[in-house]
Amino acid sequence: MNNDIASNLQKISSRIEKTCTRCKRDPAEVKLLLATKTVSARRIKEALLAGQTLIAENKVQELKEKFGSLQDIPHTDHFIGHLQSNKIKDILKYGVSCIQSLDRLSLAEKLQQRLDLEDRSMEVFIQVNTSNEDSKYGVHPALAIELVKEIAKLPRVQVKGLMTIGLFSGEAVKVRRCFRLLKSIQQEILALNIPGVEMNELSMGMSNDFEIAIEEGATMVRVGTAVFGRRKYPDSYYWSG
Ligand SMILES: *Cc1c(COP(=O)(O)O)cnc(C)c1O
Repeated sequence: MNNDIASNLQKISSRIEKTCTRCKRDPAEVKLLLATKTVSARRIKEALLAGQTLIAENKVQELKEKFGSLQDIPHTDHFIGHLQSNKIKDILKYGVSCIQSLDRLSLAEKLQQRLDLEDRSMEVFIQVNTSNEDSKYGVHPALAIELVKEIAKLPRVQVKGLMTIGLFSGEAVKVRRCFRLLKSIQQEILALNIPGVEMNELSMGMSNDFEIAIEEGATMVRVGTAVFGRRKYPDSYYWSG
């Protein structure tokens, strides 16, 4: 990995393609989302100019700061950080089209209220804590289906899929287990045919484990470090709200 964003992107695309070939998937089924926390607007722009279209922030503050500088380049913004209900207004204001980190009903209800006021809707993924670590957000796997059923009753909150952060471990078997669990929850939800719920997206896999995630069915991998280089802050800073 080096500082050249375009060449890093090329390497990642080719790894995605190779993995898809190996597991007989169509590379078009796997979207690359760039996790841009701590990355300056200038460097994000570089990635967008190199042909990327999908980016995501973890903190509303960063979303806000970079919003103006990125406005003139077409792209899609997702939100992947822990979300507090008092920030919902800002998320809507700064162009986020999908919240991937929805993990509790109270937040979904607040979102629905705000969307009602603004007469619009929002796409969401449900974040599931597949690694069962206290340090990570996400609904407990055993409660995920119930949560989806409840959120399905909120007409402006449109469920499109699931998101997870896999276990950080050098043991591929344990990481894979997290992704398999997410896939199996997706399959269960699909079988229930819940009105208003789509379940086509599985957002899983990061710089260190996206190949495993693709093998297990990811439709979206979220990559930061492998594109932009190491971050100054540990991830715990970004995952603790
Ligand atoms: C930072 C982050 C990523 C990307 O992680 P890298 O290891 O830098 O690729 C993916 N998902 C979430 C939720 C993140 O916060």
